[in-house]
Amino acid sequence: MGEQIRVAVAGAAGRMGKEVVKMVLEDPDLSLVAAIGQPDDEGIDAGALVGLRNCGVQLTSDLELALVESKPQVMVDFTTPASAYDNTALAIKHGVAPVVGTTGFTTEQIELLDKHCNDKGIGGLIAPNFSIGAILMMKFAAQAAKYFPHLEIIEYHGDQKLDAPSGTAIKTAELIAMNREELRQGNPQEEETIEGSRGGYYNGFRIHSVRLPGVFAQQEVVFGGFGQTLKIRHDSYERAGYMPGVNLAIKKVLEYKGMIYGFDHFVDG
Ligand code: NAP
Repeated sequence: MGEQIRVAVAGAAGRMGKEVVKMVLEDPDLSLVAAIGQPDDEGIDAGALVGLRNCGVQLTSDLELALVESKPQVMVDFTTPASAYDNTALAIKHGVAPVVGTTGFTTEQIELLDKHCNDKGIGGLIAPNFSIGAILMMKFAAQAAKYFPHLEIIEYHGDQKLDAPSGTAIKTAELIAMNREELRQGNPQEEETIEGSRGGYYNGFRIHSVRLPGVFAQQEVVFGGFGQTLKIRHDSYERAGYMPGVNLAIKKVLEYKGMIYGFDHFVDG
């Protein structure tokens, strides 16, 4: 067996963070060296937190100290849009490759983090979606847009999600825009009698964000042509479904330079 990859997890006490902690502890090729949570989480053993045996890594809330003391090679971040940018910048500052699943980054932030990564000579990944099915849904939608330029994106998430539209919807929209001339859809005279009814505007098409309790993560891209519609849909049912993708990202990110945006780049090789 080769050297284990040393991993820190930020947001370790969150729903995605706990899945990551469990996945890292269960993979003999990975070593959990730090788990970062909120001040209330301090001192909890990361293994016990996820229903495994104590692993000797206690949750801390001081990310910078944890990075300096535990010397991870990779930091996985599943926190909140408000924290993730600073966490990622801090990881890069200490030469730790970030693998970020938190959504809500702006294009300017990604560009800045890419510069930081390049200055430091390390790789990083910001991936709005780590599920292979979702990556395929985005690629198929981008392909379909060549033949069906009229489309709308509808994404569904739980009602506590902070950012809208979802990172996956934005990434899908960007991929579609690469395959389709900007085309303002709908009736040029259309008017909203209730503001926001037509959804968010991107490159001439609309994105709708549904937020409901009981929903996990789904997205459909609906295409309309003469006498026909085409729907490309992906449904995620549980958080564990993202873990094969996060595991692959931890193992591949060290081969890259600069900040990669989108897990599709890692899937293609
Ligand atoms: P969550 O359960 O709210 O977890 C976030 C955790 O991070 C919470 O425990 C939060 O603590 C903690 N936190 C916030 N700031 C922190 C900081 N500076 N240091 C350490 N911990 C901090 O949310 P989630 O469902 O796990 O989702 C997390 C993010 O991942 C969201 O942006 C979501 O959209 C995204 N997501 C991405 C994918 C993907 O495939 N890329 C999949 C699912 C979800 P408090 O609760 O005390 O604030």
